[in-house]
Amino acid sequence: MNVVLLGPPGAGKGTLAVQLAQCLGVLHLSTGDLLRDEVARGTPLGRQAEGYMKRGELVPDEVVLAMVKERVNGERGVLLDGFPRTLAQARGLEAFLKVDKVVYLAISKEEVVRRLSSRRVCTRCGAVFNLVTQPPQQAERCDRCQGPLAVRPDDRPEVVARRYEVYERDSAPLVDYYRRQGLLVEVNAAQSPEAVRAQARAALSQ
Ligand code: AMP
Repeated sequence: MNVVLLGPPGAGKGTLAVQLAQCLGVLHLSTGDLLRDEVARGTPLGRQAEGYMKRGELVPDEVVLAMVKERVNGERGVLLDGFPRTLAQARGLEAFLKVDKVVYLAISKEEVVRRLSSRRVCTRCGAVFNLVTQPPQQAERCDRCQGPLAVRPDDRPEVVARRYEVYERDSAPLVDYYRRQGLLVEVNAAQSPEAVRAQARAALSQ
């Protein structure tokens, strides 16, 4: 089964994706995580992507499409998290993968801004926390590896505003695109992570 997770930045795609991929027994593919890894390793792809990411802009379609195509090759199922983000990516994806379902995490702009400003990530292992909804046990330390927590550079308020604008302009049209194909299931993402997961799982098992 191939599933796409759609929704604005801060809707909770990452948190849900890890658990859903495990339940479904498929590969979790987050283009944001893959790109951050390329940037951290200073690869040519990472150097190409870094400027766009810092500004909250999208990395060019052909770069991301090539990266995804290489990773899904040979997998028996994938959960795509943060991809596709444009109509061109969605059309490009169709050339090499059949999408079975699209889970759309619906949430207001106000809630997204509130969540992203309180998100913290571990600089060592990448675990994600939220000072309001999922606080770490010790202030500024990771529960898993004790690494120091930090604000993701693109979670700074001015970049968050830009990312949301980019989402509305480039990615929001995908909701209608997939709805018209009869693939979309809508989940209320303003609930607790447990409730979101239960709703998504129920929708996927129909
Ligand atoms: P995310 O972790 O999904 O919020 O992604 C972080 C950043 O990586 C985005 O703001 C974009 O700059 C870049 N990115 C991630 N996925 C894509 C994609 N499918 N297309 C273009 N850029 C992307």
